[in-house]
Amino acid sequence: MKTIQQVGMDCCGCGACAIACPKSCIRMAPNEEGFLYPETDENTCIHCSRCESVCPVLHVGEHNAEDFREAWAVTQKDSHILQASSSGGLFTALATAILETGGCVFGVGFTKDFRRVHCIMADKPEQLALLRGSKYLQSETDGGYAKVKQQLEQGRPVLFSGTPCQVAGLRQFLGREYKNLYVIDIICHGTPSALVWQHYLDHIAGKNGQKTVSVNYRHKQFGWHRYGLEVLFADGKRFFQEYTENSYMKVFLRDYCLRESCYHCVVKETGSVSDLTIGDFWGVKNVLPEVENSMGVSLALIHTEKGKQLFERTEPMVEKQRADYAAALAANPAMTRSVRRPEARSSFFHDLTEMPWRDIERKYAKDKIAIIIKRELFRSFVGVVYRKLRQR
Ligand SMILES: Cc1cc2nc3c(=O)[nH]c(=O)nc-3n(C[C@H](O)[C@H](O)[C@H](O)COP(=O)(O)OP(=O)(O)OC[C@H]3O[C@@H](n4cnc5c(N)ncnc54)[C@H](O)[C@@H]3O)c2cc1C
Repeated sequence: MKTIQQVGMDCCGCGACAIACPKSCIRMAPNEEGFLYPETDENTCIHCSRCESVCPVLHVGEHNAEDFREAWAVTQKDSHILQASSSGGLFTALATAILETGGCVFGVGFTKDFRRVHCIMADKPEQLALLRGSKYLQSETDGGYAKVKQQLEQGRPVLFSGTPCQVAGLRQFLGREYKNLYVIDIICHGTPSALVWQHYLDHIAGKNGQKTVSVNYRHKQFGWHRYGLEVLFADGKRFFQEYTENSYMKVFLRDYCLRESCYHCVVKETGSVSDLTIGDFWGVKNVLPEVENSMGVSLALIHTEKGKQLFERTEPMVEKQRADYAAALAANPAMTRSVRRPEARSSFFHDLTEMPWRDIERKYAKDKIAIIIKRELFRSFVGVVYRKLRQR
């Protein structure tokens, strides 16, 4: 078996090794691309191999016991929650079901300065707002795994949510089953580093360096399909841009800035180890056209009996309909396949530190002329239809 040092660029950055080390001699430190990797202090290391025993990359595939392969389309009944959620708001319904039993929920929220994201615990409904919504950068698990263990051992129901590799890291860190633990993962395209986000945020904050007071990567001003990035600043200014035009979203969705391990995600190769996976039901109009709506539909993939039990408890909060499993996955390849590493991935991070974002935009986020023409034609067609309808 490989040692923790040999995991190298396969490391997914979950941080299980750092938390498990009995001598605290491992720290998660950013590399030049801004992704966290373990750094071991060889002077204090006692070579106990605990770090290797909790590494999900070294133990891939060991937790895949059952898979129900049930797929559902889900939409929140509460329109405010639906508006604030990235997809159909299923996460909030699952989290609420746990809080109702006196449990707590671990998910991803921003740090105070909105420059990084990390694992946060919520045990009141109003705290769920911090976890709601996708944050498109890699989150730091911090001491999250240790807090999960502490809550579990106090007998509280716990819901943990994260990327598939973070969930695999938690399972490996805990090393045993807990009756009171529920685990969900998101369908994951891959994650950019906090460094990429910080360069972009500085670019839009401009010379004044205005303080950021809110970030929403999936603002539904024009609905779920035409979501956009919204950033609010302390001086009251608002930035909004649809994802098809936003350079941060473009470099993310074109895969230039993902963690190396995301291009060959070991969890995608062997299957999720969560109880339930949540994502966007992008292909819903082909699979269940009657369920499609403009504000969002979540895809729920149930893997285990526990996942099914938790899902059933969301009944009063959501509209849901069962879908064919294979058909539901057809429009969401990110569930089972890693994205291809583009050649320009190699130069992207070098350029990021050398160039202002404006040049990054020109080099990596430019649209092909044919796409611009198609978009403009579509817009003027929509404009004509809209004006005709208003004249009636
Ligand atoms: C980096 C990233 C890539 C994604 N790629 C895809 C994809 O390719 N296809 C797809 O269908 N869906 C993808 N999703 C999931 C999707 O965007 C929604 O998060 C999901 O559908 C849940 O939406 P919701 O409306 O139920 O709840 P929401 O309230 O929108 O979901 C919030 C949930 O997402 C978690 N979360 C937010 N940011 C992060 C983060 N950085 N890391 C880990 N967990 C996070 C929160 O902890 C919470 O559990 C991705 C999400 C992220 C963060």
